Amino acid sequence: MGTVVFSEIPVMLTLPGDAVRQIQWRFADRFDLQMLVSSARGVARGTVARLVSAGERNSHEWTPGKNAMLEAFDSAGVTAAFMEPSEGGFIVGPKNLALSLAAFELAWVDGGAATASLASFLALAPIHERGTREQVTRYKTLAAPPQPGENRQPWRGAFALTEPIPYVGVDTGMLSGKLSVAEWNEGEEPILQVDKRGRFITGIAFANFVTAAVNSADPRIKGSCVVILEENDPGLFDRGTATKKLVHQLSSTGDPVFNLKVPASRIVGGYAVRDGVIVPTYNHSEVIEAVFRRTRVPVGLMTAAKLLSAVEPVIRYQRQRFRGAEGAKPGSIRYEQGIQQREDPLHRLVDVWAAGEAAASLGFAAARLFDALDPLEKQKNAILAARGIQGGRAEMKALRESEQRAVELLGLKANDPHRVELEADPLVQFVLADAEANVLCPATKLWNTGHGANMMREAVSLMGGYGITEDCPGFLANKWMDAQLEATYEGPVQRRQLTVTMTGEVFLALFRGWIREMRAIASHHPGTGACTLASAMHLWLWTLNHLQNATDAAGNKLYHGQRQGVTFPLADALSWLLASRSQILDVLELEQRGQSDPVASEGLAGTVQFLSDLCHTQAAHAAGEASRISAELVFGYNAHPSWDEQEHRNCFSRAELEELEETMPGICAMAVDVIASDGGHPQKAGPCAGRAGSAEFLRLQSKLTTCLTGSRVAKDRAAETVSRVAIPEALDYPAAG
Ligand SMILES: Cc1cc2nc3c(=O)[nH]c(=O)nc-3n(C[C@H](O)[C@H](O)[C@H](O)COP(=O)(O)OP(=O)(O)OC[C@H]3O[C@@H](n4cnc5c(N)ncnc54)[C@H](O)[C@@H]3O)c2cc1C
Repeated sequence: MGTVVFSEIPVMLTLPGDAVRQIQWRFADRFDLQMLVSSARGVARGTVARLVSAGERNSHEWTPGKNAMLEAFDSAGVTAAFMEPSEGGFIVGPKNLALSLAAFELAWVDGGAATASLASFLALAPIHERGTREQVTRYKTLAAPPQPGENRQPWRGAFALTEPIPYVGVDTGMLSGKLSVAEWNEGEEPILQVDKRGRFITGIAFANFVTAAVNSADPRIKGSCVVILEENDPGLFDRGTATKKLVHQLSSTGDPVFNLKVPASRIVGGYAVRDGVIVPTYNHSEVIEAVFRRTRVPVGLMTAAKLLSAVEPVIRYQRQRFRGAEGAKPGSIRYEQGIQQREDPLHRLVDVWAAGEAAASLGFAAARLFDALDPLEKQKNAILAARGIQGGRAEMKALRESEQRAVELLGLKANDPHRVELEADPLVQFVLADAEANVLCPATKLWNTGHGANMMREAVSLMGGYGITEDCPGFLANKWMDAQLEATYEGPVQRRQLTVTMTGEVFLALFRGWIREMRAIASHHPGTGACTLASAMHLWLWTLNHLQNATDAAGNKLYHGQRQGVTFPLADALSWLLASRSQILDVLELEQRGQSDPVASEGLAGTVQFLSDLCHTQAAHAAGEASRISAELVFGYNAHPSWDEQEHRNCFSRAELEELEETMPGICAMAVDVIASDGGHPQKAGPCAGRAGSAEFLRLQSKLTTCLTGSRVAKDRAAETVSRVAIPEALDYPAAG
């Protein structure tokens, strides 16, 4: 282990428990959410863990065991978490945090189980977000679990957007699913013909209803829409064959075929008839956008749960690694500490743990933000509707003024009297939350699942050969592979979305405030790595600005929609920074609130110290990524000078140098890129590239490098804690059959 002595510093004695997490993720005052966590955990570590242990993941088919899991969700209240109390639920108000917590708990054991519970919500989400009042009441009531004494099965749903190749994927503007008018009698509701083939549709084995995206194939219907299909509608409701998944096998997935007649009232959000044409209130993209911006957050949290769930099994494995061997007698370091005697496995576990903390903090921050955004969005819609504005360009135009006011607010001093008025403006509140959500949501999905899948590989590797067996405690190999599905579904195109939203004026104004916020935190909590992070954020912002105005060697613009080689990596870098920021904010929250909590206050100083060290470690990683990516983009598109006449003009010739040496002794030793009298030159690509236009970048990058000071001390200290922290005697759910 490291040589630094940390005897004066408080040490975390046990793994962070529920009381700590409730404060960090801000549901310590939400008894309803605590109940949900507890019941979801019961199902996860009971029913679900037993199914995985019994090998239920080895079948692609929908089995009685998997079906029993859905019933366990119903009984435990997980299914009802999406519903309002009037629809059979128990949580009042927005439910983004609630669903995220439930998904987190289920994915702690199995991602497929989490997906199975979320898929029905995903099917309901288009109706919830954009449905008419009748549609919302009908489907949410039917999908609510039965009340005591009620004898009925809850309806389950599937969401069908993706289609067989070539028109697959969630961002597609082209749908091959078709909608036409089957019958339309004067004065009656039109009957529509739906032809849709789905691909990879979750929950299809047992779905009673499907929300399907379709395009008009009839001049009497305008554009596209999402339409609700029921299993008993006249025609073909073929669930198709089960997908041969290598992942998430506890959920059902298949390629269904629908050829059905449905009344036009099934168009999500309703329709109007204009000049004899059915005009859906919302096209399919508008519905999907509203759905995915919320549902992608729990998916990101599923991967976060996997990373954090790996900590305890890995610690146990590392400690017990040599027990039973000849040379490892009880009491010996080899017996007690196992592989944890070595620095590298500890450091790698610290990296996995830090990434899990950051991912959880980012995801839960996004979930809470959507809870705050939901009522603001309703208020915004009401205000604009009163002005006769509903969606589209008119809305964008109307909100433009609020955006200016929001930017103005962010630039005001704390004591400026104008603040009160701007802060109280609901449209300003909306555009602020919206700008943040438009970045946090894709960042959560992108970073948590993408980087999370990489780090799950690291977690698996820490278990040696055991890691890639079915017997591995914590089902780590399953989780590694499952993480990749979480990165894939609901669309792998978050980077594209981020490249647009992260350049918005309101977001950038927020971001500048966050840099100041991190510096302020660093002044009283230097050990969190907040200063490192602030420097990295500054470098990222400088780079974005530079790239938006710079051109490449051929004079082409660098930052634009088609240039994904520039814009996507910059979105990746931002996601690292945002995750690190959320992680730091959560540790501060714990420190501030923990003392007044009777359970969390126990050993609080040690827990805060450890979690701060993880923040510092993670901030250093994030800074490194931002620095690497930014440097590549700032310099990588310039042409390297070559040894030709034109470009070596600025190099010294050997004869010139010798002459100068007489008046400036030592210059010969300093000069590089010297051209010999016969035109010979040093063996390299060309004269070293200059720093024209990027001196400021190098200044910021060099500052950032020195800001890494202390981060490895923090990592050593975290590793030391990992080698000592107490863990329960046995895993809290069965490992294998
Ligand atoms: C197990 C499982 C369950 C699923 N459940 C459902 C469900 O319930 N309902 C449903 O509708 N769908 C579902 N899907 C489909 C899923 O949403 C899609 O597979 C996913 O959106 C990826 O689309 P794709 O497979 O067409 O990949 P592609 O879109 O072909 O992506 C391939 C690669 O190309 C990249 N790429 C694609 N487009 C762009 C672009 N414009 N710019 C840059 N890069 C790009 C992607 O990042 C990716 O790396 C499920 C899929 C699976 C595997």
